Amino acid sequence: MDQVVKTDEEWKKELSSEAYRVLRQKGTERPFVNKYHDAKEEGIYECAACGNDLFSSDTKYDSHTGWPSFWAPLAKDKVKVILDKSQGMIREEVVCVRCGSHLGHVFNDGPKPTGRRYCMNSVSLDLIK
Ligand code: FE
Repeated sequence: MDQVVKTDEEWKKELSSEAYRVLRQKGTERPFVNKYHDAKEEGIYECAACGNDLFSSDTKYDSHTGWPSFWAPLAKDKVKVILDKSQGMIREEVVCVRCGSHLGHVFNDGPKPTGRRYCMNSVSLDLIK
């Protein structure tokens, strides 16, 4: 896959301030008041920074957390999972393989068949219906 590499200045110019804060500075948006937490439309969720196809609505489910949640990515090589020891917690951070942008975290309390909960930020995603 072709990598997308941009300078911090370029990202800052291209993204909204909230998207930049989450995608490039590993921020977290507020629960329940974000765009896709309750979305039921069918389609593909792309990376809001580079357009990489990340998740299908087929694996989206209501986790009641206030963030869009999926039990699997579109394919294993679409996202990269990194150990995150920030904020006094040990979590698994999920980033876009193509551009390295922060998407959210993945937890082990998801539904079958994977048991995984990919807890994403809406602002990191674009739904293509
Ligand atoms: Fe990306």
